[in-house]
Amino acid sequence: MTATTGKKPKPRRVNVRKPEVMERVEAEVAEHYRSNLVEVVRSQGLFTIGNTSVTLAKQFGFCYGVERAIDLAYASRRVFPESRIFLIGEIIHNQEVNRQLTEMGIVSLPWQEMGEHYDELTPEDVVIVPAFGAPVAFMDKIERQGAQTVDTTCGDVMKVWRRVRGFAKDGVTSIIHGKASHEETKATASRALGDDKTGHYVVILTTEDAEFLCEWIRGEHADTEAFYARFPDALSEGFDPTVHLDRVGVANQTTMLKSETEDIQKRIEAAMEARDGNTEKFFVFDTICGATQERQDALFEMLKHKMDALLVVGGYNSSNTAHLVEIGEKELPTFFIRTSDCLQSLEEIIHFDLHQKTEVSSKTSILAQDEKIIVGITAGASCPNNLIEETILRVFDLRGISAEDVQSECQKLAAEAS
Ligand code: SF4
Repeated sequence: MTATTGKKPKPRRVNVRKPEVMERVEAEVAEHYRSNLVEVVRSQGLFTIGNTSVTLAKQFGFCYGVERAIDLAYASRRVFPESRIFLIGEIIHNQEVNRQLTEMGIVSLPWQEMGEHYDELTPEDVVIVPAFGAPVAFMDKIERQGAQTVDTTCGDVMKVWRRVRGFAKDGVTSIIHGKASHEETKATASRALGDDKTGHYVVILTTEDAEFLCEWIRGEHADTEAFYARFPDALSEGFDPTVHLDRVGVANQTTMLKSETEDIQKRIEAAMEARDGNTEKFFVFDTICGATQERQDALFEMLKHKMDALLVVGGYNSSNTAHLVEIGEKELPTFFIRTSDCLQSLEEIIHFDLHQKTEVSSKTSILAQDEKIIVGITAGASCPNNLIEETILRVFDLRGISAEDVQSECQKLAAEAS
């Protein structure tokens, strides 16, 4: 049965977090993604066998928002064993996790545009909203179809929504520092329109974007066509730079690089002061989430110690992972790898190049050195520990140390610690 009436029914949010279900879900999730080796290596600081050492950041991998989203997705399958279960896009940016959900029969729906798939939803169906959230139009459509929703949107993302909704209510244009095409930023931008859809926003990504906006704020530009060309798909409908930059509030995608976000905030604040002589029409809230911050801080701490190379493990479309790569590559050879398979040989690493925006193959002699090497490993908030374990094992394997030897050293250290 397909609901076709234009009247908007009440949201059918379902709570799948039932104690008897969660106990089994937690065991299942641990089995899929936990790693004892990673726990031991993390506790060691430096894990050494022969002339090869691996060190892990103090904080990396799954954040609380991602853990919760995965738990709820697994729980949905248990609570609704017979129903069709859909997911808007990806639960998180990690192919391994998304593959597991596909194997459980959870079907991904398009997230960039609503296609006919959404017309076919019925009240018997369940739709999982990912940790990034989803745009208002998607939520409204699902509710109109009468489908049940399991909303895994992270609380930290919802905090940003509250900020931009507040801006819209107060007639303040949201300047969102983020990637306009990212799921979370699309969802946030839709909230920046406010409840009555009269609000406005512009999404900026780089300091150059911010500087261009600052020039507009200071009245140094008048070519609106150049403005629209600079921000395609990053503006609210009807945005007029001669009108909508009067009162502005800055918010950011939760996973941005903190130093860059702070720099952008300061530039815009200075431009407002230069124009008005004060900052009464400028508002700002730092909305970088705690987990992103902790992972960036842990990497800065790790970089104080000697390492020969850094491997950053995660999905290539993961924003918080890309920022870890940006931090690392300023200091030492850094490789953004999706899985351990990217470590092709001692001399070749396949990795994502942030500047070329594509996967590349690099020849390198770092892993092939005869002398002692230290390899640092970290991962974004969407990377499970089992992928880190595979990466550790692959590094040792390439250096001629078997998985059995690594696991036996791990057991020895765990026994000593207990
Ligand atoms: S990265 Fe931050 S905002 Fe995103 S899911 Fe994790 S805790 Fe939530």
